[in-house]
Amino acid sequence: MALPDAAREVVETELRRLGACSPCVLRFLGTPAADAGAYRDACARDAAAASSSGDQATCPCCLGVLQFDPDPAKVDASDEDGQAPRVDVDGGGGGGGPPSGPSSAREDDDVPPRRSPRLASHYAAGMRSAGHEITAFALEVTLPPSIPMRQAAARALLVEALRGAAAQPEGVFRSPFLPATTELRDAFRATLIPALTSSAVVNAANVPKRPVQHDPDAPFKFALLFEHEQSLAEAGFATRTAEARSNRDPRNRKRRAPPIQLRLAALPDSPAATWQRVGEAYDISAKRAGDAFTTVASFEADEHASRAMAAVRGDDESSRGEKNKRDEKNKQTARATCRLVPWHSPCYLGGRYLKWKRGVPQSPWFADGGVVGEGSVQTSLSTFALAAFKSRGCRLNSAGREDMDVRMLGGGRPFILEVHDPRRPAAFADVAERRAMEAALANADDGAVTATNIHPVPREAYITMHEGSAEKRKTYSAVCWAGRALTEADVKALAARASGLTVQQKTPTRVLHRRTSATRPRMIHDAKASLVAGAPRFFLLELDTQAGTYIKEFVHGDFGRTSPSVGEILGCEADILQLDVTDIEMAFGGDEARTPGEEEQ
Ligand SMILES: [Zn+2]
Repeated sequence: MALPDAAREVVETELRRLGACSPCVLRFLGTPAADAGAYRDACARDAAAASSSGDQATCPCCLGVLQFDPDPAKVDASDEDGQAPRVDVDGGGGGGGPPSGPSSAREDDDVPPRRSPRLASHYAAGMRSAGHEITAFALEVTLPPSIPMRQAAARALLVEALRGAAAQPEGVFRSPFLPATTELRDAFRATLIPALTSSAVVNAANVPKRPVQHDPDAPFKFALLFEHEQSLAEAGFATRTAEARSNRDPRNRKRRAPPIQLRLAALPDSPAATWQRVGEAYDISAKRAGDAFTTVASFEADEHASRAMAAVRGDDESSRGEKNKRDEKNKQTARATCRLVPWHSPCYLGGRYLKWKRGVPQSPWFADGGVVGEGSVQTSLSTFALAAFKSRGCRLNSAGREDMDVRMLGGGRPFILEVHDPRRPAAFADVAERRAMEAALANADDGAVTATNIHPVPREAYITMHEGSAEKRKTYSAVCWAGRALTEADVKALAARASGLTVQQKTPTRVLHRRTSATRPRMIHDAKASLVAGAPRFFLLELDTQAGTYIKEFVHGDFGRTSPSVGEILGCEADILQLDVTDIEMAFGGDEARTPGEEEQ
């Protein structure tokens, strides 16, 4: 429903008096975000006025978010890389602290700096700043929780102004009706997205950039986090509620620290995950603002809300002396700052790896202040993958794992390498590149770790790998020792007894410190045994077993915790000297590296 002209005028006059920007006037008049042209023109008009007057006061309703020049062809000649000017964090223009809450005392490298974009090209440069090779992007916008409070305060003032005008004897309209306000996020997206997809985007040296599409489902995210210093003062309840909820959420507790002994590289979460709490605080604030703060009186009765109202109205409610008043004022009118994060969802590289050398752990392993083993499977595979994907981190998941002293032979073990924030997501799309990586692996580190059938896989491949690994069968080859000299008849009897045998395995003593104890039946499908010529206490054992069988324990019995065992069958001590995985029988790998009870040998 459109407002009568006289009412429009009242709304517009009141908003101008409050210092609102032109696009915010459109928002409060209910102009839909779909009318992107109107918003763009309003932004451009304000930007032109600001550049001719040399200064622009911050709009108290959008905190400056809509105060930028939408013309993608305008660049800062003074700014070499086309990035928005950085904000001096101590200079009073900053936001309410880095996004991650308690850990926010330090500004680490992973948190992008606060910026103050005033040109569409600042955003365009931010989107391309990490050098992602992309054709499409999804824009994600997170706004400070004070925005809904400001919006509700402005609405309350507008309703009051409309009432006042309607009460005038000469009033030409009767109802103080105010249309629904267009959300700031929607208006901002409607203005910025056309600028980012425009073919007029150029860099600081006026070189046109290849246009990109906007697609909400694109794996490449361009995430913007706006922050404002007054958010805690005006909507602290929302931030505190969001934090309390997030601390109670067991998923967040679990996600925090990887196991120390593995020291997985700290991989950056998606920006959305990092900022989730800010987004939740915004939603809480929006809900409360809509429910509880609809009149000027309701604002004045609440500590937080009264500050939002004072900021929109331009009051100086501080009574703590001139300097404090000035500081308070500066904070109220500061622009929101923006962190610009270009980020690509993980890519997945599947394949099968082989480990030809003993003494190589699956992932980098640190203990007692030193490195254990020589390199790792993950290190070998990731060296080439990170370079190809132009990524800084990845994680290896595989269908089970073998001990450091066990070789992985035959057809190899299925794996999926999860590559984080790839700048070159199309890596390995080409078969020649995949074969080149396999060849490079074979030539590196004496070929200790090689891979076959490397290919990009979708995320769903995890499911296939997991399901496959529950069904899988594995074959092993072991060199064993017996406590007495064995005869041909002994090994024949052993093979016959062990084939088709179900053994009961209690959780091995060597893994008890990290697994709860349980007894599991495991199937030995087939066994072959043969004597070593000239060494009657040594024999070779070839086994075909169900997934999850602990082979070492099956041979020596683990103090009776695995029964029957090879030692029990032979009626003497038995031990295992060397073990190789000779095959893993499954269509494609499973991810059960972290599944309890699935660690073999
Ligand atoms: Zn505004």
